[in-house]
Amino acid sequence: MPRIKLGVSSCLLGEEVRFDGGHKYDSWIVDTLGQFAEYIPICPEVGCGLAIPREAMHLVGNKDDYRMLTIKTGIDHTERMLSFCKPTIAALKQERLCGYIFKSKSPSCGLEQVKVYPPYQGVPGKTGIGIYAREFMHEFPLLPVEEEGRLHDAERRENFITRIFIMQRWQQMIDGKVKARDLVRFHTIHKYLIMAHSPQHYREMGKLVAALQKEPLSELLTHYFELLMTACKRQATPSKQQYVLLHILGYFKQDLDAFEKQEMMEILSQYKEGLIPLIVPITLLNHYVRKYDKSYLADQIYLHPHPIELKLLNHA
Ligand code: SF4
Repeated sequence: MPRIKLGVSSCLLGEEVRFDGGHKYDSWIVDTLGQFAEYIPICPEVGCGLAIPREAMHLVGNKDDYRMLTIKTGIDHTERMLSFCKPTIAALKQERLCGYIFKSKSPSCGLEQVKVYPPYQGVPGKTGIGIYAREFMHEFPLLPVEEEGRLHDAERRENFITRIFIMQRWQQMIDGKVKARDLVRFHTIHKYLIMAHSPQHYREMGKLVAALQKEPLSELLTHYFELLMTACKRQATPSKQQYVLLHILGYFKQDLDAFEKQEMMEILSQYKEGLIPLIVPITLLNHYVRKYDKSYLADQIYLHPHPIELKLLNHA
């Protein structure tokens, strides 16, 4: 597996680029995910020509229209930042990114709930998006993006990492001379993963794949990709996971004895109640997949969605 290419706010890697000359080193991003990632670090404030250290900035205006101003002297750096964004984001399109991790709360990099101050006085509303993050998302609406703060939440983290690896497999597929059969295979091996996030989207995507002979492949790929990324952004809840696990268990109807079936059902119900993590039923199912040589299941990304070293399925 080649390293997964991710954009990242430079300060999260420990680069001393913040307004006060400091950094916001995040050990999970650097030391854990970093084993599998190739980071493209960008500090938009330094990139647009501001010094280190520099006067701190904040967003000023209302939720629909705000500017980026220095806090004490009121210098407006919005146009400077926008001039940086255009060529930088255009260049990133050549990089084939699989995702982006932004620094939270920043007037440049924050993805959501960035404070927007009223022009004269009053309480700020948490309604803004950092200027660079906003421009980036406008150009990459389907790319997985997250903030480092939200990545501390186990479920959000798992969801984000699942999506960036889906993105990597998608890009590997479309980088070749993609044929209809490639999409069929992609859809097949992602079946249970997509179902765990959104059974409705899985059905809709199945109809698209069934219409492969009737529609131009390029249009179909675009539509399929939109559905794929929208589906997987939804949280895979314990109920949806249990539904998928039961489907997979059905493949072993003839193989498992009554005791093994009973044991598996107990594990599934303990998982749904939050007593044990998802990795427990997944590990047992993977054991049965190998033992009974179920090649269709062995290919299912659902049973190994990301590197085990990331321990993303280990939380109950
Ligand atoms: S939050 Fe963004 S702009 Fe601010 S120091 Fe980090 S990378 Fe630079």
